[in-house]
Amino acid sequence: MTTTTIERIETSLVDLPTIRPHKLSVATMYGQTMMLVKVYCSDGVVGVGEGTTIAGMAYGPESPESMKLAIDAYLAPAAIGRDATRIQELMAHIGKLVKVNHFAKSALETALLDAHGKRLGVPVSELLGGRRRDRLPVAWTLASGDTARDIDEAESMLAARRHRIFKLKIGAKDLRTDIGHVAKIKKTMGDRASVRVDVNMAWSETQASWAIPALADAGCELVEQPVASAAAMACLMRRFPVALMADEILQGPESAFEIAKHGGADVFAIKIEQSGGLFAAQRVAAIADAAGIELYGGTMLEGAVSTLASAHLFASFANLQWGTELFGPLLITEEILTKPLDYSDFELTVPNGPGLGIELDDEKIRRFTRDGLKKVIK
Ligand SMILES: [Mg+2]
Repeated sequence: MTTTTIERIETSLVDLPTIRPHKLSVATMYGQTMMLVKVYCSDGVVGVGEGTTIAGMAYGPESPESMKLAIDAYLAPAAIGRDATRIQELMAHIGKLVKVNHFAKSALETALLDAHGKRLGVPVSELLGGRRRDRLPVAWTLASGDTARDIDEAESMLAARRHRIFKLKIGAKDLRTDIGHVAKIKKTMGDRASVRVDVNMAWSETQASWAIPALADAGCELVEQPVASAAAMACLMRRFPVALMADEILQGPESAFEIAKHGGADVFAIKIEQSGGLFAAQRVAAIADAAGIELYGGTMLEGAVSTLASAHLFASFANLQWGTELFGPLLITEEILTKPLDYSDFELTVPNGPGLGIELDDEKIRRFTRDGLKKVIK
């Protein structure tokens, strides 16, 4: 039997416009850059993966540009010529040669899984143990920076039956303004929608101790990463009638174990990129399940490719108590797939075709592909 090997790996940067500025406590995004990776195998199968960050390097140490460089210079040379069907073995080999670089590894692993699914004629979810659900609830993030505009946006999402879970990005303004913003939106929504907040680590423990009870009183059901450290998170736990979720501090299985050991979160926001790939994210989920920590399918505001990779994984989770926030493709003005994803009745349908089950619109992608590493400011 001849071995199917990896022959060539190509990376590119695709700059896409967003429907509106997206304001977080760490940055404001005016567009989204996807780092696409294509893996060409000796049996003619091509797999695609994606690496995307939130606002360049404002959120974490990797950027689309750094991922491209890491893959071109290190991951690709380590992968070329090796067995394309032994993905876990290959990623372990790369793990020895390349430390951290979780996002770049996730993009390459996604491409390998897409290729292998296509090769075997099965969806990626089946390569991850098999799916338990075909549709995933999807939250929407209200982050225009303006309360009235956020309420209008939430109303139109409810009317279109696209989202009924809203995550509010707060932490950039003073506490009273932020709490007033959340309270006004929740009061308008009432029981028609659930309201959660993401502080993106902006508060001190003292600020969090003051603000979280007020958020609970306003009807907010979950507070995501209010403070920066696992120790401060642990100090805030079980003091308020609202769930606390870990996001930024969750950087793969080892960190998941540390947080679980110190009782530092009620919920984990699992992200495939932040975890270091789909298999690593699977291990994070197993740690959460064992520790009685609930799960939420997070996003790095990825485009369609990594969003779908995440969807295949989340579809296979035993528990997904808080749904997902896989709305990244809806934040972009351009449709980059030949067949759009199905967002309907407040959920995303996980495709059934081989691999990720999607097809890129190559012509559209080409139009937005950057020439070289340097971003051209238009
Ligand atoms: Mg977050």
